[in-house]
Amino acid sequence: MALIVQKYGGSSVGSVERIQAVAQRVDKTVKAGNSVVVVVSAMGKTTDGLVKLANGISKNPNRREMDMLLSTGEQVTIALLSMALQEIGQAAISMTGAQVGIVTEAEHTRARILHIETERLMRQIEAGKVVVVAGFQGISSTEELEITTLGRGGSDTSAVALAAAIGADFCEIYTDVPGILTTDPRLVPEAQLMTEITCDEMLELASLGAKVLHPRAVEIARNYGVPLVVRSSWTEQPGTWVTTPHTRERTACSSAPLSLVNLELARPVDAVEFDSDQAKVSLLRVPDKPGVAARLFGEISRQNVDVDLIIQSIHEGNSNDIAFTVNTPILKRAEAVAAAIAPALRNQPNSDEAEVIIEKDTAKVSIAGAGMIGRPGVAAKMFATLADAGVNIQMISTSEVKVSCLVDAVDCDRAIVALCRGFEITASSTSLTPPAANSPAVRGVALDMNQARLAIRQLPDIPGMAGRLFGLLAEHNISIDMIIQSQRCRVVDGIPRRDIAFTVARMDAENAQAKLQQVAAQIGWGEVVLDSAIAKVSIVGSGMVGQPGIAAKMFEALAEHQINIQMIATSEIKISCVVAQEEGVKALQVIHAAFDLAGSEKFVVPV
Ligand code: ADP
Ligand code: ASP
Ligand code: MG
Repeated sequence: MALIVQKYGGSSVGSVERIQAVAQRVDKTVKAGNSVVVVVSAMGKTTDGLVKLANGISKNPNRREMDMLLSTGEQVTIALLSMALQEIGQAAISMTGAQVGIVTEAEHTRARILHIETERLMRQIEAGKVVVVAGFQGISSTEELEITTLGRGGSDTSAVALAAAIGADFCEIYTDVPGILTTDPRLVPEAQLMTEITCDEMLELASLGAKVLHPRAVEIARNYGVPLVVRSSWTEQPGTWVTTPHTRERTACSSAPLSLVNLELARPVDAVEFDSDQAKVSLLRVPDKPGVAARLFGEISRQNVDVDLIIQSIHEGNSNDIAFTVNTPILKRAEAVAAAIAPALRNQPNSDEAEVIIEKDTAKVSIAGAGMIGRPGVAAKMFATLADAGVNIQMISTSEVKVSCLVDAVDCDRAIVALCRGFEITASSTSLTPPAANSPAVRGVALDMNQARLAIRQLPDIPGMAGRLFGLLAEHNISIDMIIQSQRCRVVDGIPRRDIAFTVARMDAENAQAKLQQVAAQIGWGEVVLDSAIAKVSIVGSGMVGQPGIAAKMFEALAEHQINIQMIATSEIKISCVVAQEEGVKALQVIHAAFDLAGSEKFVVPV
């Protein structure tokens, strides 16, 4: 007999008939000898409807009242599902987040779970009942009883957190697709179902726009080793398992087994990693037109040069800078390829375009941890910590769960000591989990159409600037993503300066721009430029580690369809490109096709 948490999303409980079908499935699971806790979302598009109502009254509704409103959606479903279960002879009881005791931070509309009281719920289970819990909601404390919500899509997080708290054998997420597919089947009907995916890959995919799972749910599954499966509530197909590779051994500095107190506030960073043997190759002033990155990285991959980080940022005028890092032993080869291809990238034969610059003796230091998702202060703290240690940052590249900075090799040890101290990590590590032998280079492709790009021109290139900039955004609770610091350095008023660009959620963009403009005017930064019409398309796969040519293939697919790449950022297991918003869906489709991810069956939206 197993203890199982089942979560049913909005479309799975979208009508009376659907709720009855869910009751049948739950009943069947109980009859097979299991104990079941069910977590449900609001019916269909109820939450969207409630948001619309609020917006009809206020452009900026009070967050506490918003929680009061949105939490009602799930309350409808728990009562109806309990009735449906009782109707077929299965004892059941519904419970709100407050009744269970799902205690969260007092942050309305985006609260993180602190702990879950399990006593009352387990008593009902022991009495033979199915407990039906309202997803997405909690309370700020058992005295205040202030209702909080976890953020849109948060019922997945409620379910996995409950599974961790009660020590469930596994957690099943029932939804309207047969499991996790290579990409969103609504945009690419040939998307193929996976039988499994690692937590690390899923974390990236979920954070990069694959809304099939809430990233925080994946984070909890990974941290607490909760076996997690995504399945269709319409069929009996086995679905997709999200696997947790013995996480705790990942690095020498992993933390001790996590306690269930401060469940979602576990330390934001669980590893400081470094590679002290890197060199950077930059191509400055390459023309801003489709195909440039593809030609460069195509040639690099034909010469079998394995690149690590790749970044490309934007500039005034019509040129970009592209930089990548390689391990020092292959620098000579990388440099030769870059020098050989540079003339072919120029618009004008003898111009100063595509100048190749090599920087040896650099080191990459990274902080890694799923706890940094949605916590804007973490990257800012890394930059400030490096600044305090007198370490200048040459290049920044981020993923959702990692921030990497390229620094002078002589500063590497100092940087590691400072970061380990700052983030309370006891030892640093050079190791990365080696991918399993059969890991595909590209597991999935994701599209995020809800981002905007901000760029700040001419930021002084001195320690502390990135810390100040991102610290300011963190103070206003604005999460940043994909930070890219340009390679081009210009001296203005006697101070070397670089541009820095990053993406933020579109709804935060104007606020972020306004806050930055105020500071820019005071302390002499350049213009703060906003572009809301962007899309971010990403590939994720742990098998891309050490496999040259993956980036080139992605860039080539875009070039072939005349899609211009505005920004590039990579981590070991993902590559993201920013493109124009109107080209986002097309970009997703051509990349999905380029990696042969399509299956023979087409996805049909359930009714
Ligand atoms: P629920 O209401 O069950 O929580 P969601 O709408 O939040 O469901 O998530 C399921 C949806 O996620 C699917 O209908 C699909 O359109 C979308 N999706 C995006 N990326 C993927 C992917 N890689 N695999 C499966 N579904 C995806
Ligand atoms: N009902 C909430 C939403 O629509 C939570 C969820 O479904 O996960 O965002
Ligand atoms: Mg969902």
